Amino acid sequence: MGRPTSHEPLIVVGSGIAGGLLALAAAESGPVVLVTKEALGAGSTARAQGGIAAAVDTGDSVEAHLGDTLAAGAGLCDPDAAARICREGPDQIAALLRRGVAFDRRGGRLRLAREGAHSAARVVHAGGDATGAHIVVALTAALRADPRIQVLEGERALEVVLRDGRVAGLRSAGADGRKRVRGARAVALAAGGMGQLHPRTTNPPGATADGPALAARAGAALADLELTQFHPTALALGDGPLALVSEAVRGEGAVLRDARGRRFMPNEHPMAELGPRDVVARAIARRAAELGGDVTLDLRHLDPGAVRGRFPSVAALCAAHGLDLARDPIPVTPAAHYAIGGVLADMAGRSTVPGLFAVGECAATGAHGANRLASNGLLEAAVLAAGAADALAGDLDDWPEGPAAAPAPPPPSGAGGAVTRAALQSAMWRGVGVERDADGIDAAIRELDALPRGTDPETDNLLLTARLAAAAAGLRAESRGAHFRRDHPLPDPAQARRIAWVGGVPHHLRPVPLARPHRAVAKEAA
Ligand SMILES: Cc1cc2nc3c(=O)[nH]c(=O)nc-3n(C[C@H](O)[C@H](O)[C@H](O)COP(=O)(O)OP(=O)(O)OC[C@H]3O[C@@H](n4cnc5c(N)ncnc54)[C@H](O)[C@@H]3O)c2cc1C
Repeated sequence: MGRPTSHEPLIVVGSGIAGGLLALAAAESGPVVLVTKEALGAGSTARAQGGIAAAVDTGDSVEAHLGDTLAAGAGLCDPDAAARICREGPDQIAALLRRGVAFDRRGGRLRLAREGAHSAARVVHAGGDATGAHIVVALTAALRADPRIQVLEGERALEVVLRDGRVAGLRSAGADGRKRVRGARAVALAAGGMGQLHPRTTNPPGATADGPALAARAGAALADLELTQFHPTALALGDGPLALVSEAVRGEGAVLRDARGRRFMPNEHPMAELGPRDVVARAIARRAAELGGDVTLDLRHLDPGAVRGRFPSVAALCAAHGLDLARDPIPVTPAAHYAIGGVLADMAGRSTVPGLFAVGECAATGAHGANRLASNGLLEAAVLAAGAADALAGDLDDWPEGPAAAPAPPPPSGAGGAVTRAALQSAMWRGVGVERDADGIDAAIRELDALPRGTDPETDNLLLTARLAAAAAGLRAESRGAHFRRDHPLPDPAQARRIAWVGGVPHHLRPVPLARPHRAVAKEAA
């Protein structure tokens, strides 16, 4: 394969909000091949309930949204990246409306919900709590209708192919197992999250860290891997990916009660049930451990008709387990939910390897800092997809300088994936879960190192990423945002730096500049 030409396609890996939007936008400037390992639209996007945060209300402002984003990010946000997603929020909502996403309205205006750690009602949603499903339906129809986009379903990306230090193609395996290499002028990883690092997760089975693992093997830098956001309230019922009881339910007034029926969040945080996710998740985990028995979510004091009308998906999930969302206490547990870390990328999705983009949850831009504000995930994915499409329309030789590539070794091949994966998940949950400490992290690293490599590609991707995530958790000897160390329970200002990994070696990114004062914070302080 020679040097890629501009006639060669962009290959997009993944068909959630990030891959879908990028493929559609990039098709304006050249051919696109979209490979996606399951059916079109499978992934976390389809499961998103709460919605998309954007300062679209007249009483709200970009500054207030940014203030909340930076506060949640706990000193680790890249302020420019955070400002970019907040600034572009209203435009991205308008763009999704143009793509046919029917967001909920009241009186002709977008209906807005308030979620945890937001100072205003600014979460745009569709179908009540079925926002992601509505997005996927609209994007899937548009992808299928666009003749400039070749969609390959059941096609699994295995390796980013390089030539002379830049991307030249993608090796993938089809549904029939046949492997092939396609030439590409660029590859964009939009492969989603890594919830399958943990046994308790809200993520679908395909969230196996493929994006970061493929990028690392191509020599790209990864970042923020110690930062996994655990959702505090997954439905503690059933097998497989745990159903999410979205923050919006607490936003409407639901309260948390321990096994003795006592409300405990007002003692934990001034915003009580609407406090930051990490605070709520740890409080629930501790209560469950102290008293045994599940913590429950209680909506019995709210209007039953309004509850069922506003949260039809959650009500249906509860009903499937014989529970009435409006009348029964609903058992909940923390679960791995959102990967803040991933492929180090700028706001155009450019990784440190020329021609390799990362967009959506598999990218780490620094916009979320140490903790993602609720509903900023879909927003960041949409902003990154637009940024990447712009970059792809320009000169790809004009690539920002990054650290020299240092590829991780390719995986060997073998058998026994399911057993290895279960052991990996158990090691991560115990050692690199909701709360960590040095002994637990060391034990997890020993267990991970003892596991066989080469069982199957996805388990290998999880192993590569798990090992780096555990090392990163060990390196961050402080508590900050989503990362809580029992043995270092406070933040350490000297560690307010992002940790990147190149070829398995850690690098501290330049200290995160202090956020410029902005109106919302200035007003509050005054
Ligand atoms: C239950 C749940 C609820 C959520 N609710 C919200 C919310 O209300 N608001 C919000 O902002 N965020 C929410 N999030 C987070 C948000 O949904 C995700 O961060 C976002 O949808 C990720 O989009 P994505 O396009 O990056 O990845 P995904 O939507 O996960 O898509 C990844 C795609 O990559 C494909 N893929 C993966 N590996 C490969 C490979 N090797 N080869 C080919 N294809 C591959 C997958 O099949 C899939 O199509 C929620 C997440 C979950 C799990």
